[in-house]
Amino acid sequence: MSCIFCKIADGEIASATIYEDDEFRVILDLGPATKGHALILPKKHYADLYEIPADLAGKAMILAKKMVKVMTEALHCDGYNVVQNNGEAAGQTVFHFHVHLIPRYKGDQAGV
Ligand code: 5GP
Ligand code: ZN
Repeated sequence: MSCIFCKIADGEIASATIYEDDEFRVILDLGPATKGHALILPKKHYADLYEIPADLAGKAMILAKKMVKVMTEALHCDGYNVVQNNGEAAGQTVFHFHVHLIPRYKGDQAGV
């Protein structure tokens, strides 16, 4: 499997993991838009929202809700973006479903 996020999700490639369970790994983004920018990765490979089963997509959003609470408490961010890109035209660069959790700070210049 040549998918980089499969290798990261499996633990085959080391990553800055901030949460893990049987179905997901949450890692820090290598090129963060802001401090604490994280990505929710399902451990199974699905290219995008079209491919991922609805129940797993739902679990990803439930996890996003838990993570943004932790993020807000730990980082004292003022807000956050939850972003999920699908397709090259929409800015997707890694074709393994993922959810961006991007903490936002008043006055930051993040181009999200
Ligand atoms: P996309 O543009 O597909 O929605 O987001 C891909 C994200 O994955 C980008 O924000 C990029 O910085 C991040 N990324 C790409 N390769 C790696 C990697 O090897 N490790 C980590 N932690 N993040 C990566
Ligand atoms: Zn993959």
